[in-house]
Amino acid sequence: MSRVYNFSAGPAVLPEEVLQEAAAEMLDYKGTGMSVMEMSHRSKAYQQIIDEAEADLRELMNIPENYKVLFLQGGAHQQFAMVPMNLMKNKVADYIITGQWAKRAWQEAQKFGRANAIASSADKTFSYIPDCSDLPISEDADYVYICENNTIYGTKFKELPDTKGKTLVADVSSCFLSEPVDVSKYGIIYGGAQKNIGPAGVVIVIIREDLITEDVLPGTPTMLQYKTHADNGSMYNTPPAYGIYICGKVFKWLKNRGGLGAMKEYNEKKAKILYDYLDESRLFHGTVEKKDRSLMNVPFVTGDKELDAKFVKEAEAAGFVNLKGHRSVGGMRASIYNAMPIEGVEKLVAFMKEFEEKNL
Ligand SMILES: *Cc1c(COP(=O)(O)O)cnc(C)c1O
Repeated sequence: MSRVYNFSAGPAVLPEEVLQEAAAEMLDYKGTGMSVMEMSHRSKAYQQIIDEAEADLRELMNIPENYKVLFLQGGAHQQFAMVPMNLMKNKVADYIITGQWAKRAWQEAQKFGRANAIASSADKTFSYIPDCSDLPISEDADYVYICENNTIYGTKFKELPDTKGKTLVADVSSCFLSEPVDVSKYGIIYGGAQKNIGPAGVVIVIIREDLITEDVLPGTPTMLQYKTHADNGSMYNTPPAYGIYICGKVFKWLKNRGGLGAMKEYNEKKAKILYDYLDESRLFHGTVEKKDRSLMNVPFVTGDKELDAKFVKEAEAAGFVNLKGHRSVGGMRASIYNAMPIEGVEKLVAFMKEFEEKNL
């Protein structure tokens, strides 16, 4: 068996220990004589899996009592619609456009009401986070929406916007569990699991209870109402059962690593290795404003498309895979999520140095 260093933006690297445990339990989960994939979601064994997953997530993120945790499907994209359908009581919402995912969410919300773009970094290819200290928040805005970590461009909000008292909704798909957060500052925190948590197919929504109501936009399907899932412990219908089981294992792995404070330290140390090299390299350079750099997604370029392609190809042959930048921006991107070991980044940087010497 030989494992590569996988820098994919998502689906992405998972902790090897988690994969090994899942493999060991594949044929017989704790004496049940079956795999978790074959198990009724109404069974006692499965109920315990989902309950533990929720409890561990609550502990990791210190989620207050008045927030519900929902395990849903439909990807982050489904939330682009669910958020306005459930929250747009006044049919007004404010969006901060910091990249393609925020833009998609904003465009989707326009189907349901007046979605205002109150700030944007589109003028410089989303290479920075706009100043959000005094935004023209709409008086009747039902919520303010951000994409907290911009997976494609490699920027992150280091400070949350001043929403002037309005509910904050955040897509945290690519920074979920990468560092401690104060959940009470948000109305909704949501993300697809396939970036920093688990397999594709699970979306985790952490939502303040007062936002879960029957007062949703007319015609909102049952499955797209938060209340449906909140009232039924995420089991109104069959949940993404196996995916939730793997997420639960990742939560335990994070707890064993010391929780989110320890992860933050580790992630900072890991990202610094790459950013420090990008800052001194004469061949490679980072593409975003330093103060807004993401700890999770690190885009970089040589400035020469052919050389970029050559680098990606040679890196892959050396066991550093999925370094190609998003198709909309080109260049390279190293996604260095929680499960990427520090050795992976050290070795990547050593490889980049070699490449620099040979190609300068
Ligand atoms: C990947 C990603 C999405 C899209 O996720 P899907 O699960 O494919 O819908 C949305 N937002 C962010 C921040 C992402 O990284």
